[in-house]
Amino acid sequence: MKKKILIYSLLLIMIFTMNIQTFAAENTQRVINPNKPMVALTFDDGPSQYTPRILDVLNENNSKGTFFVVGSSINRNKELLTVMIEDGHEIGNHSYNHKDLTAISQEELYRQIVGTDDLLEIATGHRTTIMRPPYGRNNVEMNKILYKPIILWSLDTRDWENRNAETIKNNILDNVKDGDIILMHDLYDSTAEAVETVVPELIKRGYQLVTVSELMEYRGLDLVSGQVYRDMYK
Ligand code: ZN
Repeated sequence: MKKKILIYSLLLIMIFTMNIQTFAAENTQRVINPNKPMVALTFDDGPSQYTPRILDVLNENNSKGTFFVVGSSINRNKELLTVMIEDGHEIGNHSYNHKDLTAISQEELYRQIVGTDDLLEIATGHRTTIMRPPYGRNNVEMNKILYKPIILWSLDTRDWENRNAETIKNNILDNVKDGDIILMHDLYDSTAEAVETVVPELIKRGYQLVTVSELMEYRGLDLVSGQVYRDMYK
């Protein structure tokens, strides 16, 4: 009899935990409504020690970000980058070591961009499909050679300059509009701190936080190589 009760109890526990697992899976499922407001949070120059903190906030809020990484930081962040890609965040190319790409030779340009993609592929098995040139500097000739869509931004938090979580937060919340591509850097404690309050607040205001590629896809815009994008309206 005791044995029977034990078996029944175990069965009940099994059924109960299975239900919880199903519920958890449903709960993390992400559904984007193309008719509702959406913005893309983008982070340049990393990964750094602050990137995991930003990722935690995005993951906890069922949101995705875009990270324009520098090639020189890839090797020491292999595991992190692999997890970021698995979690559905987007990785973009931000050159190897943050050179002004309009001021270097074609050969160097190739090394800066293709070399960074090669490193990412070795580290994670993935190459980038979008890029953001350092300082946003680009020209028609360069864009043709690079053969990637050039992603700039429509809302600049100037986080590298102010290094103040409150200012970064206000720069976003006072100016944000549907379709924005928001520029930040995952290099500073103040940026991570701002993200912790900005992400839940944006969601509360009805914004969906999507990657750059998702933003374009959900709004029916094709990302074309060599073309410059500042927001979903170009
Ligand atoms: Zn940069």
